[in-house]
Amino acid sequence: MAKALEGPLEEPLIFDRSREGRAGIGIPTPDVPIVDPHKVLPRLMVREEVKGFPELSELDVSRHFTRLSTLNFGVETGFYPLGSCTMKYNPKLNEEVAGLPGFAGLHPYQGEEMVQGALELTYELEKILEEISGMHAITLHPAAGAHGELTGMLMLAAYYRDRGETRHKVLIPDTAHGTNPASCALGGFTVVPVKTGPDGILTAKEVADHMDDDTAALMLTNPNTLGLFESNIKDISQVMHDKGGFVYCDGANLNAIMGLAKFGEMGVDIVQLNLHKTFSTPHGGGGPGSGPVGVTAELEPYLPKPRIIKTEEGYSYETDRPKSIGRMRAFHSQFTILVRAYAYIRRLGANGLKEASEAAILNANYLKEQLKDTYDLPYDVACMHEAVFSDKHQQERGITTMDIAKRLMDYGIHPPTIYFPLVVPGALMIEPTECEGLDTIDNFVEVMKKISAEDPELVKGAPHTAPRKRIDEIGAARRPRLRWITPEED
Ligand SMILES: *Cc1c(COP(=O)(O)O)cnc(C)c1O
Repeated sequence: MAKALEGPLEEPLIFDRSREGRAGIGIPTPDVPIVDPHKVLPRLMVREEVKGFPELSELDVSRHFTRLSTLNFGVETGFYPLGSCTMKYNPKLNEEVAGLPGFAGLHPYQGEEMVQGALELTYELEKILEEISGMHAITLHPAAGAHGELTGMLMLAAYYRDRGETRHKVLIPDTAHGTNPASCALGGFTVVPVKTGPDGILTAKEVADHMDDDTAALMLTNPNTLGLFESNIKDISQVMHDKGGFVYCDGANLNAIMGLAKFGEMGVDIVQLNLHKTFSTPHGGGGPGSGPVGVTAELEPYLPKPRIIKTEEGYSYETDRPKSIGRMRAFHSQFTILVRAYAYIRRLGANGLKEASEAAILNANYLKEQLKDTYDLPYDVACMHEAVFSDKHQQERGITTMDIAKRLMDYGIHPPTIYFPLVVPGALMIEPTECEGLDTIDNFVEVMKKISAEDPELVKGAPHTAPRKRIDEIGAARRPRLRWITPEED
């Protein structure tokens, strides 16, 4: 039996909206003979019944999904300062360009000669990203940041294999993004944690203390997850290179340094960029993404294949690359994300990209200064694109980071990233991005100050305006129930 609606925000499961015999369409009686499926199809392919299959009218279905869509929160709903994720506005122009029939209608099996425009865009984007990152060559194969990290690790493994050397370890600072150690492990390396210095950045000495002949690389996020620029990176790179190791840079936070600094000039050997963050593709809810990887000339032979090359006859695929780690993705990878990134970059131009980074830094520092008297700021230095606070002061009144995050929802603001990075207990990692105006940031600051002074009971009961209160997020991730269970089975 269907559950009753419990207020304007509730939306039952589509199965609970089902009424026996209701249908969205009426299929006319065929004017050809009806054949018994058992006579023409293998037994396994004939489904006798679908248990619990929802039966609804077209209006029921339309209303259901429209209502669900209003429960979603996106960059276009309100402020979305989710640290590290760079939830910036995605200009509509990008969508329009990606939707052009010549791009959107491409078929992956079309021959090279028929997709010259797409190959040209891809080739040109590689060149642009080489310029922005300062790297010798770029691959656009990887489908996400973490996928780019894995690509880098596989290339490192291939490099050492090629030289008949084995190195097992990769150094990773305690401020690393969670995907870094996972990518190392997948690439076959062992993670060696290294400690960030007292001012939130890594020192060359700490790296030197851990670097040895069994260490393949250091994996460093720059700017790091505290929102700080790793200003010792040149000395750190020297330490790694002196002992035959590499510097892998997680460049997902490129939106803070575009046009201001280049990875190639910092001594970085491999870097991944997150197009879906820096170059504006909608990416909430886990996708879609694109994580190009840039490398030095020394590592270029190991890049995934095929590579796109430009010849007198046009653009074509180069597959004869014996040292390549092979394909990282089918067909042309996340092609329309590449189109969006290309459109975004071409629209802003070199100066525009630099201005975007400057605005991202300015916004984050303004927010940091406005909030630091109310919220504990463990690293009180100039930041890049994001600022990390803690709930230390609020805890004195029994209010935690989780409570603050949930309470923000009542004010129509998406919570920031919380409890990360791990080096800051009770962390609130806030990234305003360059897209936000002063009024939005001022409003956020005001709300944050208000929450800090509110009745702890009120804050601990938040969210008050959402259809679900505190859900079991860990249970949902660790023990997902993905199969529809009929009321009888439940
Ligand atoms: C987002 C992010 C990643 C992971 O990127 P995905 O595209 O989500 O796989 C890695 N490192 C940093 C610093 C990030 O911000």
